[in-house]
Amino acid sequence: ETALPEREAALIARRDAVLGASYRLQYRTPVHVVRGEGMWLYDPDGRAYLDFYNNVPSLGHCHPEITAAMADQAARISANTRYLEPRLVDYAERLVATFPKAMDRVVFTCTGSESNDLALRIARHVSGHEGVIVSSYAYHGTSAAVAEVSPNLGDAVRLSPSVRMIDLPGPAGVPAGEAQAHFTAQVTAAIHDLDRRGIGVAALLFDSIFSSDGVWIDPPGFIAGGVDAVRTAGGLVIADEVQPGFGRTGAHMWGFERHGIVPDLATLGKPMGNGFPIGAVVGRRDPMESFGQTARYSNTFAGNTVGIAAADAVLTVLQRDDIPGQATRIGARLRDGIGALANRHEMLRAVRQAGLFIGVDIGTSDSPAQQRRRMALDVVNGMRDEGVLISTTGANEDTLKIRPPLVCQPDHVDRFIETLDRVLGRVSNER
Ligand code: PMP
Repeated sequence: ETALPEREAALIARRDAVLGASYRLQYRTPVHVVRGEGMWLYDPDGRAYLDFYNNVPSLGHCHPEITAAMADQAARISANTRYLEPRLVDYAERLVATFPKAMDRVVFTCTGSESNDLALRIARHVSGHEGVIVSSYAYHGTSAAVAEVSPNLGDAVRLSPSVRMIDLPGPAGVPAGEAQAHFTAQVTAAIHDLDRRGIGVAALLFDSIFSSDGVWIDPPGFIAGGVDAVRTAGGLVIADEVQPGFGRTGAHMWGFERHGIVPDLATLGKPMGNGFPIGAVVGRRDPMESFGQTARYSNTFAGNTVGIAAADAVLTVLQRDDIPGQATRIGARLRDGIGALANRHEMLRAVRQAGLFIGVDIGTSDSPAQQRRRMALDVVNGMRDEGVLISTTGANEDTLKIRPPLVCQPDHVDRFIETLDRVLGRVSNER
């Protein structure tokens, strides 16, 4: 491990003193960044870090077209949605056009958490029920309402009495052929329990790549029966697209499309403004209108013209440069590269991939959970010391989470694979 230089040690001390315990730094030796460009982050001495982790600047750090669009709009007007302003309407039309026809309404927010919070309000309003079904390590955000349906937060948060958690087929070791039946049975049992207690189901809320559960994407379509069961019981289906949306999973613009379903509501955030905070709920007309007519939803900063300018430029680049198609091709190269390493490094237990979202389980299945977690952390920190940024996810935090910006090119993949090969060799030798 690199020793912490004086400059960073001093900055950490000041940070801790004023920001306190809520703020955590990543890596044993935190990375000090002053500039970003494309796939790269730079420290004050000009050392470059290859970014294989950040999915917010999805089109690359400080994309010149996005920053120019934002700067230009900021210099003219940042209006709110109470004024008539064409850019808001133009972008809203372009955005809903990327969804299935039935989803033709949008409400803007500033974050993924606000999107999920609003979606829950809509689902509870329309269904008249309170219950929410989520996966057992789901994370859906920061507000009181969505933190209460985020078991990933662990003991830090008291879960809502109306939340029901379901075990996913993948981590439960269920074979692919039985995955759908397993998922449907879990959802059905949750619905029955909510009904029996007079709570009723308002929503099935899911991230279609189940990223915080450890990246469980296959087999495509395994959620379809659960989706039907919730609708039959009068609940709404909410696809949390904060992680899989905007082409991340390759081929499709939206993660739910991989599963061949159409949700009632989809919640957006993270890459929508390539770093500028903007989110949205896109949904079917009936629930959106029913909520809009009776409830008040006024969000000061949501839909401000600078955010819309950023999002508009993002959508233009994404469509013009066929970014989802690129994510498909580069994602396959990355998966194949990691797959080849798995033949030589027995600590690579499994690889799961859709587009440029990849989960790699670390540690042989007979090794203790704590040791697997430690090894995954060693790999992440070893990569950091070699100038490549990734992280971990999953119930035991022993899955490498690999999510480069979607502008990743073949030479970046090759560099990543070489570095991972070296680091895996070192970590296994050290044991
Ligand atoms: N949903 C998912 C699936 C997320 O991963 C996150 C953020 N990690 C959120 C919602 C919350 O988004 P935000 O932090 O922008 O509020």
